[in-house]
Amino acid sequence: MRSERHYLPPDAMAAIAELALGDSPVVVGQTALARRLGCSYLAVHNAVMRIRRAGGWYTPLDWTECPRCGQPFISRRGPGRRKCCPTCRIAVQRHQDAAHRRSWRQRNPDKWAAQWRRSNARVNLAWPTLPEEVRRAALEKLHEATRRDHSITLQLAEKGRGDDWTADEDQYLLEHRHEAARDVALALNRTLYGVYHRISRLRRVRARAGLPLP
Ligand SMILES: [Zn+2]
Repeated sequence: MRSERHYLPPDAMAAIAELALGDSPVVVGQTALARRLGCSYLAVHNAVMRIRRAGGWYTPLDWTECPRCGQPFISRRGPGRRKCCPTCRIAVQRHQDAAHRRSWRQRNPDKWAAQWRRSNARVNLAWPTLPEEVRRAALEKLHEATRRDHSITLQLAEKGRGDDWTADEDQYLLEHRHEAARDVALALNRTLYGVYHRISRLRRVRARAGLPLP
């Protein structure tokens, strides 16, 4: 939450602006106004001073160039200034959210595995009851994501079909099998399809040997 010193809701600001720009004696008014608005005297006083200095209640804006994509965008001046354009901001936020989720999963592998099992069970239960077109759309979306992820990993992978899987890699696959296969592929420098094939092979081998998946 933003500190009360810097942030007051718009209706409070409107009342303060009226006081700051009006003719009434400001010093007496601030205490009463703070009490009426239910905020601190200091917050009101700072706002009054700011509005009087600026000659009005407004936010100074600047045209800035986005450091990520180079597009110009409008941002407020001073504290709270936006660092990049709205489009990049969403991308940055998504990236941070994904990184946050990934680090949570790494810190809580058991909780994550339990969550994964629950959500998987829910989907499996609901799947047969979904209308045909919803199922088709969901599968198409999944295939599209898989194709996209495969082509990403294909560009970055340093190991291909000819490279044998090491015991360490197999171990990594088993330990991270609840994580997004794309992330596992990227971590192992493999392609997404390579990871899928290896996982199903490990499943078969372990099933034949009577070994459960860990
Ligand atoms: Zn941008």
